[in-house]
Amino acid sequence: MKPPPFDYVRPTSVDDALASLARFGDDARLLAGGQSLLAMMNARLSRPKTLIDINRIAGLDAIRVDGERLCIGAMTRHSDVMASELVGRHCPLMAEAYHYVAHIPIRNRGTLGGNVCHADPASEMPAVLLAGGATLVAASTRGKRELSAANFFVGQLTTALAPDEMLIEIRIPLAPPAQGWAFEETSNRRGDFAIAAVAATLSMDGGRCTSAAIALAGVEERACRWTAVESALVGSSVDEATAAEAIGRGLGGLRPTGSVHADVDYKLDLVGTLTRQALARARARAGKR
Ligand SMILES: Cc1cc2nc3c(=O)[nH]c(=O)nc-3n(C[C@H](O)[C@H](O)[C@H](O)COP(=O)(O)OP(=O)(O)OC[C@H]3O[C@@H](n4cnc5c(N)ncnc54)[C@H](O)[C@@H]3O)c2cc1C
Repeated sequence: MKPPPFDYVRPTSVDDALASLARFGDDARLLAGGQSLLAMMNARLSRPKTLIDINRIAGLDAIRVDGERLCIGAMTRHSDVMASELVGRHCPLMAEAYHYVAHIPIRNRGTLGGNVCHADPASEMPAVLLAGGATLVAASTRGKRELSAANFFVGQLTTALAPDEMLIEIRIPLAPPAQGWAFEETSNRRGDFAIAAVAATLSMDGGRCTSAAIALAGVEERACRWTAVESALVGSSVDEATAAEAIGRGLGGLRPTGSVHADVDYKLDLVGTLTRQALARARARAGKR
């Protein structure tokens, strides 16, 4: 399959890219790694009149620590994020989750920014950003704004970005040294999108949970936090029985999407199992770093 015809521009600065976005608006799409966009165009699910290729813009692929936050440029390739020592140290949840994302050639080309802007509900990174309390920096000719991950992911393949906005950077609070973490996923084959995935972090003090974050991918129409279970865990020891009870009660509040690979009942069962596993591993890691 070949994509429908399109015009092509290749800006070399963020300002030029934003000017192109302002000019072409919803008729244009930014081209990052192309790993999702070109497949969508080939299948005629997306028909942009103009592609704005942002691969030649310098400076959008840095990974740095700024104060209390880990900052990752939108054009950083998956493989560079995965290999980053800073990411391993300050967001080990992301480093672990990357082992489930696609395959080496796709990770070499695809970008973290493109991944989150594509906003596939079964993608791992939106769940990681939600669990990590990340913010996303969007720019347009009108200025910059910073959105929480909770406000960024609006629905299936839909984000809160306006047609003239470009994602510039992803900012994640540094993981506290004593925080435990775990990512669990089931997919049809290694490297496929998740049938269901769970990203979890836990902080413990004196054997009691002081904070918990649980985010789900592949379950609802967008990646989501599972706040009912989080709040049930705070103050508890997060032992097997408490976790199972909190999860059991929380399942009724989920609205899973069914598919040919997993109907709703199977998905709920899977989410319960994956969350129990993630919490057990996060609990075992808490206080160990
Ligand atoms: C076979 C295969 C398996 C895969 N498996 C997985 C998987 O298991 N898990 C997973 O998460 N992903 C998976 N992917 C998708 C992969 O992670 C893509 O790299 C990613 O979804 C899109 O990133 P990209 O840089 O290629 O973006 P592109 O395809 O270039 O763009 C995607 C969308 O985001 C927009 N966009 C890109 N950058 C920006 C920006 N800076 N600001 C605003 N909008 C922007 C584009 O206009 C487009 O609409 C898979 C892909 C393939 C082909």
